[in-house]
Amino acid sequence: MVEHKFMKVLKFGGTSVGSPERMKKLVPLIQAPEPKIVVLSAMSGTTNSLVEISKALHDGQPGQAKQLIGILEAKYKEVVKALYTKTESLQKGSELIKTHFEYLNSFCLNPFGNKEEKAILAQGELLSTALVHYYLEEVGIPSVLLPALNFMRIDDNEEPDLHYIEEHIQKELSRHPSVPVYITQGYICRNVFGEIDNLKRGGSDYTGTLIGAAIQAEEIQIWTDIDGMHNNDPRVVEKTHPVTELSFDEAAELAYFGAKILHPTCVLPAQLRKIPVRLLNTMQPQAKGTLISEKNSGASFTAVAAKDDITAIKIKSGRMLLAYGFLRSVFEVFERYKTPIDMIATSEVAVSLTIDNTRNLKSILTELREIATVDVDSELSIICVVGNFTAEKEGSAFRILQSMKEIPIRMISYGGSEHNVSILVKTSHKKAALVALNKGLF
Ligand code: ADP
Ligand code: ASP
Ligand code: MG
Repeated sequence: MVEHKFMKVLKFGGTSVGSPERMKKLVPLIQAPEPKIVVLSAMSGTTNSLVEISKALHDGQPGQAKQLIGILEAKYKEVVKALYTKTESLQKGSELIKTHFEYLNSFCLNPFGNKEEKAILAQGELLSTALVHYYLEEVGIPSVLLPALNFMRIDDNEEPDLHYIEEHIQKELSRHPSVPVYITQGYICRNVFGEIDNLKRGGSDYTGTLIGAAIQAEEIQIWTDIDGMHNNDPRVVEKTHPVTELSFDEAAELAYFGAKILHPTCVLPAQLRKIPVRLLNTMQPQAKGTLISEKNSGASFTAVAAKDDITAIKIKSGRMLLAYGFLRSVFEVFERYKTPIDMIATSEVAVSLTIDNTRNLKSILTELREIATVDVDSELSIICVVGNFTAEKEGSAFRILQSMKEIPIRMISYGGSEHNVSILVKTSHKKAALVALNKGLF
């Protein structure tokens, strides 16, 4: 593998490319002569619009889809007008918009399924990267577009195929040696059938860390609209503050359990290859942000996050009493339906566990009911407290539960790792729980 040790990967999220003004503001952040790979999301709002367009087509409403496509196209025409000054770039921008929107409109005439939906969802990143590429051309910064669809790939479990990515991005890079700015699309990829697919919502972060791991980058920077990972969800709780340092383990837990600033699994590739990840703010580039690395912050309580749309399943069986092998038969059901389990609590006669993917819930329940009595609860949230809870450190669990004394708790998981305590509550109690923990722990 050719390593690009001195290369950085810079990922800019939707708000950071959300308007012509914001696109122009990328220049000082990327113009240094050292080669770097710049990963871009779609302009903020675009993927949501593309989801709406797809929904209309799924529902057999091509007229409505056409109308939504028209609104989005008008927005992009304005972007082109405001972004470029030179006739040549204005022309290229207009051509680009025309091509992509003709393509979108073509879906209104034909049968529509999942494959078509994925192709529609990919248009946002294809547009944003080309628009920024033309802008850099206009202002005289040499850049090359690397088509993500040529190297980003998921396998038959819908997991990124890092070996394939490694091999194919090297091919792309070697075609254009020594360019200061390589631009590529976040989020989009191809699946094992070679069809257009994606890394799920928020997936551009994942593209950034996968590319960083694939080229063994010096650093991965995630540029967004906030000054790093905060100690609590700033959308829900007032007076949160940025955490300056996080270990990979802590960051992975927070991302998985709902800290929206990072895609749920994007920390893993960076952790695998030990590449530091910096979370930075495009609106405030001087702010320190958060550094994620192997180093442990050592803080007792680092941060809190919450994950919604959780379903709890209680499985009760007389056979569990003094028996072995029962839990295996329960877990095998979830394995067969490729459904990950997040939390588990056991008693002598029952086990409760939580899932967030309910795609196969009906079949799972049918199979479980063959071996046990089963109850299901939905509209739950997992509150995840991240910190350093080694057994010698007394009082972490006490302080967490004391802070939450007013909140009814459905399940607790402590001791699975030294970094995470998970607490299951009704979603209607989530805000109160986050506020109480902010008060009690920080
Ligand atoms: P981008 O479009 O750049 O990917 P996102 O909207 O996906 O940005 O992520 C940034 C947002 O994540 C912030 O604006 C903030 O509202 C939200 N967020 C949720 N939890 C946290 C947290 N613990 N720390 C920082 N931001 C968080
Ligand atoms: N554009 C995609 C989304 O909105 C991916 C991303 O922004 O990370 O989910
Ligand atoms: Mg995001």
